[in-house]
Amino acid sequence: MATVLVVGGAGYIGSHMVKLLAGRGYSVVTFDDLSTGYRDAVVRGEFVQGSLADHAALDTVFRSRRFDAVMHFASFIQVGESVMEPAKYYANNFSNTLTLLDAMVAAGVGRFIFSSTAAIFGEPETELIAESHPQRPLNPYGRSKWMVEQALGDYDRAYGLKSVCLRYFNAAGADPEGELGERHQPETHLIPLVLQVASGRRPEIGIYGDGYPTPDGTCVRDYIHIVDLCEAHLLALDALVMEERSRAYNLGNGAGFSVRQVIDAARKATGCPIPAKVNPPRAGDPARLVADSARARAELGWRPRYEDLETIIAHAWAWERKVAAGA
Ligand code: UDP
Repeated sequence: MATVLVVGGAGYIGSHMVKLLAGRGYSVVTFDDLSTGYRDAVVRGEFVQGSLADHAALDTVFRSRRFDAVMHFASFIQVGESVMEPAKYYANNFSNTLTLLDAMVAAGVGRFIFSSTAAIFGEPETELIAESHPQRPLNPYGRSKWMVEQALGDYDRAYGLKSVCLRYFNAAGADPEGELGERHQPETHLIPLVLQVASGRRPEIGIYGDGYPTPDGTCVRDYIHIVDLCEAHLLALDALVMEERSRAYNLGNGAGFSVRQVIDAARKATGCPIPAKVNPPRAGDPARLVADSARARAELGWRPRYEDLETIIAHAWAWERKVAAGA
């Protein structure tokens, strides 16, 4: 049975990953400083509270057992904040990741799965974004992730560390069993915000601009179910074991939905009116971000199970009702 260290396992994506790994028979240890995550989101395996900036804490974890792989989800994710406070993003998302990689190299752990992002590509030059798309990140958040991807190439060449970078488009939805969901503080993502309006926790949803060159003028994004994302990590790990070769994959459904389409789908799913108003555009939002995930499908055999927006919203809505009810 393989043992996996999940760094950032108390966060939104990491907590779903921990549950999936444990369900498939992996032995799992979560390492998380709880700066943005929740202890009660770690529903399986062992939990160690610690910071990635703490070399000694990391060494203790790596000495405690033999890990077959590390999955790294611990990063800050707000684009706007990264522009105002780049130091915070370079320190945590880049520098702390190097500390983690160094601890892995020292411990002889050679497989790394990295949460990367569509933000490494910058302004899209093609309708669908494939791995071959130029990489010109537009903000410190995207650059911090891009820098890790570059470092990983160097760590492979110098130390033989093998990695898979998974560039997420818009992670969304919740655990279909209702045990886990999205709990960002503050929440900035569209689907949870829209559903908080439906549950009465917010008065209305603000649309960031309706003058984009898209069919209805609002931004188009590729929403991918959290469980499908996590499945891709398991397949990536299998692939690294089978073939020790570093690589990267773009993960999305390949279908774009506009902000207005998301709001309409949420109205249908919840039966609530969901008042919306148009606000000024948010800085740094490209009009359209949609993935070409053909490589992940071909090389990993990845097949998203929850592709339709209705299912993604239904699972997120079940979670929001639970949270709103104080469960
Ligand atoms: N969005 C919006 N209102 C909000 C939050 C988001 O109109 O209150 C839009 C945002 O401009 C983007 C899409 O919804 O086009 C998805 O944004 P989110 O922050 O969920 O993810 P991102 O695409 O920034 O990773």
